[in-house]
Amino acid sequence: MVKKYSLPDAQGHFGPYGGIFVAETLVPALEELRVAFEACRQDASFVGEFEHELRHYVGRPSPIYHARRLSEKLGGAQILLKREDLNHTGSHKINNCIGQALLAKRMGKLRVIAETGAGQHGVATATVAARFGFKCVVYMGTEDMERQAANVYRMKLLGAAVVPVESGSKTLKDALNEAMRDWVTNVSDTFYIIGTVAGPHPYPMMVRDFQTVIGRECLTQMTEGFGRQPDRVIACVGGGSNAMGIFYPYIPHEDVRLVGVEAAGEGIRTGRHAAPLTSNARAGVLHGNRTYLMQDGNGQVIETHSISAGLDYPGVGPEHAWLKDSGRVEYVAVTDEEALDAFHTLCRFEGILPALESAHALAQAMKIAPALACDKLLLVCLSGRGDKDMHTVAERSGIQF
Ligand SMILES: *Cc1c(COP(=O)(O)O)cnc(C)c1O
Repeated sequence: MVKKYSLPDAQGHFGPYGGIFVAETLVPALEELRVAFEACRQDASFVGEFEHELRHYVGRPSPIYHARRLSEKLGGAQILLKREDLNHTGSHKINNCIGQALLAKRMGKLRVIAETGAGQHGVATATVAARFGFKCVVYMGTEDMERQAANVYRMKLLGAAVVPVESGSKTLKDALNEAMRDWVTNVSDTFYIIGTVAGPHPYPMMVRDFQTVIGRECLTQMTEGFGRQPDRVIACVGGGSNAMGIFYPYIPHEDVRLVGVEAAGEGIRTGRHAAPLTSNARAGVLHGNRTYLMQDGNGQVIETHSISAGLDYPGVGPEHAWLKDSGRVEYVAVTDEEALDAFHTLCRFEGILPALESAHALAQAMKIAPALACDKLLLVCLSGRGDKDMHTVAERSGIQF
C-alpha cells in the first residue's frame, strides 16, 4: 500500500503547524536558504558530496542489528536495532550537520552558529565546523553548561567558542533566543545550523530530508536482510529528527505502524515530563514555528523534565504535530524508570550501551514485544550511544562513579 504524501506546502505548513514566525529581517535569509536548498537537493554533485561524506566521514550505512538474545528474553516479537549509535560522534545528529555544513559552503557562509541544550548538537556542529574550516559559535545556557561540562570541553577542543547564556532559566529556550539574535545581526556571513526538525520553514523540511538517509537505508536493509519491511518502526521524539528520518520513507507504506516515543519523565500526570504530544499540550509558537507546546495558562513556555537531556524540549517538530492529528503516527510516552530499565537490559543482553534518549524507544518495544507473535518485526531507531549518560545512570543507581 503506497500512498502519496507531500508536505510541507510552499509556505512550510504541515496542516495548521509549521510556517515562519520570525523577525522581519530574517524573512529574506530564510528565503535565500530555501532557494539554495531546493537547488542543492536537485544538484547531482551536491548529493554526491553529501553521500561521500556520509560514507567516509560518518561511517554509513549504519547496520540493522537483530537483537536475538533480547528478543528471546522477551519471548515475543523480534527486536531489530538501526545502529545510529555507530556514527562518528555517536548519534544521528551528524547526518544533518554534514548536510547543513555542505549547504553553508555552497552559500559561501564561513561562520556557523548553533544553540545546544545537552551539548550533543553543539558537539556535532563544532565537529563539522572543524571538518570544513568554519568559524563556530555555540550558545548554551549556563545551567546546561554546568550539567554538561564534558560536552562544553569537547566543543572547545574542536575549536568552537561556547557562549554562556545567563538570561531566563539559563537553558535551551534561552540559548535559542540568543542564537536567533546572533543570526539577525550577522545574517550576511552566518549560517544557523538547527539540530532538529524545528525552527522556521525551511528547517523542519530540510533537517528531515537530510535525516531520511536513516529510513532509506532501512527500506533496502530490511528487504535484503529480512525479506520484508518491519511491522512497526519505533523512535524517540525530542524535537523529532531521528524519528522523522526513519519514519518519513515509511509514511506511504500504510501497513507499517509508526510509533513516536516521548519522555514521560516522572509520569504524565505529575506534570514533570517532556511530552507535548502525548499530554495534548496546546498549540503555540516556539523557535519560529507553530506546534504543540508545553505552556502555562498565560502561554509561558514551562520547564520540562526528562532523565535524558536530549528529549528535554518543550516543543516538538511541526510535522510530528501534523502526523499526530492525522493519525498516521501514534505517540506514546515512556517514564525515566522504564527508560533506565531498558538501558540496563540492552547493556546486559546485547553488550550495547544505548543513549538514554534511544532507551525510551527501546523501552516501548520491550513493552509491546511479549504480546506479539515471534515472527513480528519491531524496528527500533537506536539514535545514539550511551557513553555520555554514564554519570546520570550511575547517579540514579546509587553507584559511585
Ligand atoms: C538529540 C538526541 C535525540 C533527540 O533529538 P531528535 O531531534 O528528537 O532526534 C535523540 N537521541 C539522541 C542520541 C540524541 O542525541
